[in-house]
Amino acid sequence: MTNEELWKAVLGQIELSISKANFITWFKNTLILNNQDGVITIGVPNGFAKEWLENKYNLYILRALKSFDENIKTIHCVIAPERASMVPSGDSLKNVDAIKPPESAGFVRKKLIEKPFFTATGSAAPAFHETNLNGRYTFENFIVAENNELARAACYAVSQNLGLAYNPLFIYGGVGLGKTHLLQSIGNEVVKSSPEKRIKYINSERFTTELVDSIKNQKVDKFKEYYQQMDLLIIDDIQFLAGREKTQNEFFHIFNTLYQINKQIVISSDRPPKAIPTLEERLRSRFEGGMITDISRPNLETRIAILESKIAERGFIIDAPAIRFIGEHITQNIRELEGALNRVIAFSEFHKISPTLENTEKILSQLIENNKKTIQVEDVFRAISEFYGVTKEDLIKKGRKKEISHPRQVMMFFLRTELQAPFSAIGEILGGRDHTTALHAFEKINTNKETRARLKEEINTLKDRLYYPA
Ligand code: ADP
Ligand code: MG
Repeated sequence: MTNEELWKAVLGQIELSISKANFITWFKNTLILNNQDGVITIGVPNGFAKEWLENKYNLYILRALKSFDENIKTIHCVIAPERASMVPSGDSLKNVDAIKPPESAGFVRKKLIEKPFFTATGSAAPAFHETNLNGRYTFENFIVAENNELARAACYAVSQNLGLAYNPLFIYGGVGLGKTHLLQSIGNEVVKSSPEKRIKYINSERFTTELVDSIKNQKVDKFKEYYQQMDLLIIDDIQFLAGREKTQNEFFHIFNTLYQINKQIVISSDRPPKAIPTLEERLRSRFEGGMITDISRPNLETRIAILESKIAERGFIIDAPAIRFIGEHITQNIRELEGALNRVIAFSEFHKISPTLENTEKILSQLIENNKKTIQVEDVFRAISEFYGVTKEDLIKKGRKKEISHPRQVMMFFLRTELQAPFSAIGEILGGRDHTTALHAFEKINTNKETRARLKEEINTLKDRLYYPA
């Protein structure tokens, strides 16, 4: 077995035991450089991958290696970016390398435009002139925990190595989990270390509005030229480009220009590229060609850590049992957590009371009650239609097309779990179907979500959307 074959086999095994996002992030562009006396030397593209492979994935790698060759004792990683980027990767990583820019492309550089064509508007937060960055989001005040460490590491690596570490970088996760915070941190970090860089942060809705305006004013070329001279382009909440063909088309050209000259592109979304309906295939494959990492919900321990850090940041003191109470009751996301904390602080200051457990319970009782917001059948229709890009009529209609039957089954699942509707009523709501159909759909989704990571994510995102419409 050659080193190349061995590594390919090992990657094949590892891929089965970790998430796709992790796999691509950490194992892309790796190879075995040497295999001698039981020591395997792995070439990796950068220091981050080295640290991660040696510390986090050491056991996975070693276990897989040993299953092919019992004599293998240890691994160590060396940074070998030139070698590593020429890796003929394993099958699952193949398309990742398909759009590498030609070697010489890095030297092409467009003339910089002196004045920004567009100015930032619409944001109440303080922003540095045209970058749209908000200085309050930094890596320093971002709490790292298991739900976000991968995303954080990838963002940090990008900020240290614009265009070279991971490009594009795609971060996805539910509402209020820290995507914008991380994206902005990259920008702020680069402003600090390389103030000469051209940086633009924009959300995809704003991007679309600017584009539409530029079309109206016959300034599309200027619009494109402006974006194509960025060193770092950050597009937040790209899912809003769904269904906007014209915007996707212009964005695709901007993306390609930047990508070919090794400029950094960072994108966020509430779901992985595959799950964005009506995203053009060519854009999807571009996104999938880079790094994709996710942020998931924080557990109780993390929620408490975040609260503690925010309390310290504010120079405030809250009793530990009260902090725990907040963490236990505000579980959906970090934005809500901050909101609850702000309320406790403001209320205690205003009424000059100390935030004991008892007072905190009182202060938050209304909020916690509201959080148990009841949802209606129409809310479920709305969330499902928006998420899957299908209409209410599609869901009700007869027919078993996969594009519709899956959303319909998920809808049945939610009607059961969130509304506790009887199966007969669920069948009735979805176009007079039989109660056994509803029962089977529920059971299918309920079982599959335990074993299929993607479905589980889908369910979580949808649940967010149900209770926190965009
Ligand atoms: P998203 O863009 O995913 O909807 P945001 O980035 O806007 O979420 O985060 C919501 C709020 O929670 C922001 O105020 C952000 O600063 C805060 N936040 C999120 N994650 C963290 C974290 N890990 N550490 C500290 N603050 C966080
Ligand atoms: Mg956001």
